Amino acid sequence: MSETIFTKIIAKEIPAEILYEDEQALAFKDINPQAPIHFLVIPKKPIATILDMTQDDKELVGHMHFVACEIAREQGFDADGFRTVMNCKEYGGQTVYHIHLHVLAGKPLGWPPYQERLKVE
Ligand code: AMP
Repeated sequence: MSETIFTKIIAKEIPAEILYEDEQALAFKDINPQAPIHFLVIPKKPIATILDMTQDDKELVGHMHFVACEIAREQGFDADGFRTVMNCKEYGGQTVYHIHLHVLAGKPLGWPPYQERLKVE
């Protein structure tokens, strides 16, 4: 898989505001926050999209969610709640092809995440 900006963050070749790190995962603040709290949880293993996960990656993807919850409890936004999002490919709005879990918190978040009304045929 080709190198991405996240590979460089894992290798500490470019800076990031790191919130958590272990052998499998890294969490850091999103450079362009879409909520008062917005960070990303990524696996150290490069997986381009969630469609590329294998049977062997199931625990790793679960671990990413577990890390998100640990940070929520640590930072105290677990009580109010938060949103996790993983964008997939073009229509999902994915721009970095190394899977990442967005964690958004700090205010009530709108839903649905698109503006157009679905056309009923
Ligand atoms: P996505 O559009 O789902 O692929 O999300 C990619 C996210 O990565 C966006 O929210 C970007 O703001 C964020 N991002 C890109 N480069 C960096 C960086 N160097 N440090 C932190 N976040 C970044």
